[in-house]
Amino acid sequence: MNGCRDIIVVGAGQAGFQAAASLREAGFDGLLTIVGDEPVAPYQRPPLSKAYLAGKATAGTLALRPASFYADHRITLRLGERAALIDRPIQQLELKSGERLGYDHLILATGARNRSLPVPGADLAGVLQLRTLADAEDVQRYLAGVESVVVVGAGFIGLEFASVAAARGIAVTVVEFADRVMSRAVSRPTSAFFRDAHEAAGIRFAFGVGVGRITGADGHVTAVETTDGRAFAADLVLVGIGVVPNVELAAEAGLTVADGILVDQALLTSDPSISAIGDCATFPNSFAGNAPTRIESVQNAVDQARCVAARLAGRAAFYAALPWFWSDQGGWKLQIAGLANPHDLTVTRGDPAQGAFSIFCYRHDRLVGVESVNRPADHMIARRLIAERLPLVPDQAADLALDLRALIRTAAA
Ligand code: FAD
Ligand code: NDP
Repeated sequence: MNGCRDIIVVGAGQAGFQAAASLREAGFDGLLTIVGDEPVAPYQRPPLSKAYLAGKATAGTLALRPASFYADHRITLRLGERAALIDRPIQQLELKSGERLGYDHLILATGARNRSLPVPGADLAGVLQLRTLADAEDVQRYLAGVESVVVVGAGFIGLEFASVAAARGIAVTVVEFADRVMSRAVSRPTSAFFRDAHEAAGIRFAFGVGVGRITGADGHVTAVETTDGRAFAADLVLVGIGVVPNVELAAEAGLTVADGILVDQALLTSDPSISAIGDCATFPNSFAGNAPTRIESVQNAVDQARCVAARLAGRAAFYAALPWFWSDQGGWKLQIAGLANPHDLTVTRGDPAQGAFSIFCYRHDRLVGVESVNRPADHMIARRLIAERLPLVPDQAADLALDLRALIRTAAA
C-alpha cells in the first residue's frame, strides 16, 4: 500500500471518519489514527439543524458508527485532542499536549468553523451559532423558553433553523445582507419559492440589511438592531453567516493555502505526504472549469475521503465527483445537483404552485445545475445528466410529457 504503514487523519468529522473507514475497506492494514478536538466520536452534522432541533433525533442517534466499529477496524480515536503543529521534515504531528505522533501519510480533514458576527452585543447570552453537537445542545436548551428569535443569515443554516423554530410557534425574523434567500447556492426562482413558503409559515424577512448591534438586559439578548435603524425583539439570536475553513495548521506548516488548503486533482497538498479533504480543501473542480473550489457538503467530504483512500490503496484516483446538496425546510425537500451559479437561463419543470418542481440552470447553453423541490426523481436524473454531460435542451427540460429517464437510456445506448 504505497509504502504507508502509519496514517494519521486530523479531524474527526464526516471526511475524517470516511477516510479511515474507506482505508480499511480498501485493505489498508497499517496503523490508523484519527485525531479530533471535539470530545465525541464522529457524528452527522446535517440533522443538527433539522431532526435534532425538531426533537425527532437524539444525540445518540447521530453517531456515524457505534464505538465498536473503531475497535473492530483497529482505528485509534484520539478525541478531545487538538493537532497543534506538523513537523514536516521528520513527518511528525504534534498534539496540543506536546505528544508527538509519527506518520507516513497525513490526511487533513479539519473542516470549517462558523464565521462570527463582528458587532457590539454579539457576546451576550442567547446569541448562538450552530456547527457542533455542543452548539445544537445549547440551541435546543434555549429554544425551550423563547418567544421570539432573530436569525442572522438566510443561508442553509438560517432557514433550516428558522423553519424548525416557526413550527414550534416561535416568532421568527430573518435578517439577510442579500436581496433573497440562499443567494450563494440557488437560482432566483428557487429563492422566491422558499421565501414565499417561509413567509406563509409566518417567518418575517429583512433583506439587504446587516446587524448594527445586539442589545440586551442583565447580560442576555433582548433585541437586534439592523443597519437601517429597525429593531427586532429577540430572546435568542441564531447567527448563520457562513464558515471559514480551518487552514491554520496547514498554513503554519508552510503548505499552500488559498481560501482552503490547496490540493491537486489527486487531493494532495503541496507536500506529497499530506492530503486534504472536505470543507477545508480547495481543489480543481472539473464542474467549474477546473477553477479552485471549496465545497461545504457531506457529498464532497465523503467522496473526497473515498478518493484519497483509493489513492493510498494504490489505485490511481482523481477527484471528479459531481457536487450535490440537500436541505429540508419545513415540508420542503430541496435537492441540488451540480453547481448552478453562475447561470444565464433557468427553465422550470413542474409547478411551483403545486409545491413540486425543478429549476434547470443553463450556462452558455449547457446544463450546469438542477434544483428540485419535492421532485426526488428529477434530482436523480439530473445528477446523471450533469455528471455524464448528456445533452438536454431547455424545451426538453420544461416538457413534462418527455420522460427524462428514457432520454438517459437512449443517450447511454
Ligand atoms: P467537519 O465536519 O467540520 O469536521 C472537521 C473536524 O475537525 C471538526 O470536528 C473540527 O473540530 C476538527 N478539527 C479542526 N481542526 C482540528 C485540529 N487542529 N485538531 C483536531 N481536530 C480538528 N451538508 C449537506 O450536504 N447537507 C446538509 O443537509 C447539511 N446540513 C448541515 C447542517 C449543519 C447544522 C451543519 C453545521 C452543516 C451541515 N452540512 C450539510 C455541511 C456538512 O456537515 C459539512 O460539509 C461536513 O460536515 C464537512 O465535513 P468535514 O469532515 O470536512 O468537516
Ligand atoms: P451560507 O454561506 O450558506 O449562508 C450564510 C448567509 O448569511 C449568506 O446568504 C450571507 O450573505 C449571509 N450573511 C453573511 N454575513 C451576514 C451578516 N452580517 N448579516 C446578514 N447576513 C449575512 O452559510 P450558513 O451559515 O447557512 O451555513 C454554514 C455551513 O453549514 C455551510 O458550510 C453550509 O453549507 C453548511 N450547511 C449546509 C446545509 C445543507 O447543505 N443543507 C444545511 C446547513 C448548513 P452573503 O453571501 O451575501 O455573504
